[in-house]
Amino acid sequence: MSQKPASLREDYLKLLQDSTSLEQMGLVHDSSRIQPTQPLVGKDMKRALTQLRLESMLVATMDKDKPLELSSDTQQRLIDAAGNQQVVLDEYEKELLVAIERLELRFPVPYLVGDFPLAYPFNAVTVLRNAGALVLVNRGLTDMIWFAAKLFSAGVSVQVTDGTDEGDNVDPMPFTKEQIAEWLAQVVLSYLRNKDAQAAGHLLPQFGRVRSMVVACLTNECTKFVIAHEFAHIIKGHLAENFRVDSGDDDVIFRVLEQVLKSFEQTSGVVRYTSRKTQEIAGKWRQEIDADLLGLRILFAGQASRGSNKRFIIDGNHPLFEFTAAAPFFLFALYHLITEVKKASTGHRQAIFLTEHPPAELRHEFVKMTYGSWGQPELPHIANEVMKWFSGVQQSVVERTLKQTT
Ligand SMILES: [Zn+2]
Repeated sequence: MSQKPASLREDYLKLLQDSTSLEQMGLVHDSSRIQPTQPLVGKDMKRALTQLRLESMLVATMDKDKPLELSSDTQQRLIDAAGNQQVVLDEYEKELLVAIERLELRFPVPYLVGDFPLAYPFNAVTVLRNAGALVLVNRGLTDMIWFAAKLFSAGVSVQVTDGTDEGDNVDPMPFTKEQIAEWLAQVVLSYLRNKDAQAAGHLLPQFGRVRSMVVACLTNECTKFVIAHEFAHIIKGHLAENFRVDSGDDDVIFRVLEQVLKSFEQTSGVVRYTSRKTQEIAGKWRQEIDADLLGLRILFAGQASRGSNKRFIIDGNHPLFEFTAAAPFFLFALYHLITEVKKASTGHRQAIFLTEHPPAELRHEFVKMTYGSWGQPELPHIANEVMKWFSGVQQSVVERTLKQTT
């Protein structure tokens, strides 16, 4: 692992404390609104863990799951970290670095992955500083992913096999579609209001062991994809001021994106969130698609067995494979849902929002095509379930948020 320059760390810590510099960087428009959350202290964490175990014990009977078991080691680690998301991000980073080495990719500049507390308007962003690149991962986003993963997982039945005995069969939780849609609406609204999905309160109970594992796998893979996407921007050199997208005629993806943009611009219902010209936006979109596809390669390369030195690996037998494959689809569907709610709550229900990021549906299509080109034309089961779930719940969520905002 590359050594992190001390000045980059100092820069990160300064950003955490001084939100006016975020304003200067254009990441935040009104820094006076920002209220970083207070981290949990050890004794709060102990209390939270006790509550978590009790609740899990009560709930686990509802779906034939077993209660959560946390070894005393794990508990101590959680208490020591006291809700510190940085510990988790460091773990993800380590995993991704193994994959990056396998793919023989290089970071052109030093970088640092830093947790960002709630209530910052961005999701995840990489900013170029004098000492290197800062990858800032907003807690607002990771919390949102976790909530959505929990709501999705509540309704699925899970079978665990370990190859030796019969394994466990866990039923769906006995919640109605209406309950799930209502909870999801509250979470999305809280997130849109202040990037703080937690403000929706304690909605869902803690799950048992198996279902908690599903939530954890999905959340981990999604967050890893977010970081891998940012790493891809750094590796590809997108951050450099003078970086230009090669928009030659042979760049098919660029041409497609440009065509989509042009068709958007001819639509009457366009709401523009950028002052850039079409050509420039297409260049930005091209970078995003590029970062998605390289991010995906990095995620999958991390799953190969240690001895493998193949340049690209997709291993359908890996236990995490299903979750890894579903992660981009989960994220894009979530972004899509958030955008639809935002459109509805700002009175632009039929509009197209034009930003420097391609619409989630487009990112979805490119990832799907890439799977096809890897010889995986059929999406794995969880990816399909994710898409079915989001499209099934979307209408109801939008209608509920409309009722709450008008
Ligand atoms: Zn990006």
